[in-house]
Amino acid sequence: MRSEEDLEKGGFVLPGELVGTTEEFKPGDGTAIIAGDIYSTATGSVLIDRKARIVLVKPNTVTPNILIVGDIIYGRITDVRESGAAVEIAGIEGKENREIVSVRPGDIHVSNVRDSYVKRLADEFRPFDIVKARVVDVERMRLTTAEDSLGVVKAYCSNCREKLVLEGKKLKCPVCNMTETRKISTEYGKGIM
Ligand code: ZN
Repeated sequence: MRSEEDLEKGGFVLPGELVGTTEEFKPGDGTAIIAGDIYSTATGSVLIDRKARIVLVKPNTVTPNILIVGDIIYGRITDVRESGAAVEIAGIEGKENREIVSVRPGDIHVSNVRDSYVKRLADEFRPFDIVKARVVDVERMRLTTAEDSLGVVKAYCSNCREKLVLEGKKLKCPVCNMTETRKISTEYGKGIM
């Protein structure tokens, strides 16, 4: 049995996120191999056992959490329509160790994306993006990203799914060099813990 102190702590991940490669690690609990890479199958914290070269994802303990107006949440974009984007809510800032159960999907209305006018929502969010947003209406689970620190904190290349890196005001794929736009948070790429 390995004790948790021996493990190196990684970031907070959602299912489907890349957590390592089979060249570096063996897949542990909460992970699966897809085409030579190791992906998370759980919502929780990445843990790395350097000695045994195992990467695993420790799921969050299931404790219901009720969202209130003003809470900052983390979630994944599941759908982008003309009028709004749907968000699968995964965690609350400051309460990352608690999973949210039975929370309906959040909605970022096109008017709540940024302070300025949004012409095309697909230029701001794409499915699989990880966003940080503030709850503005609990009844309808309305969210806003119209603050500098809110918006996309992690995004993947639409072409090859590699993690995009911030370059100036745009996001660039280090593999295929594709450039994409988003409503980018000032905390982009800083880890979402
Ligand atoms: Zn790419």
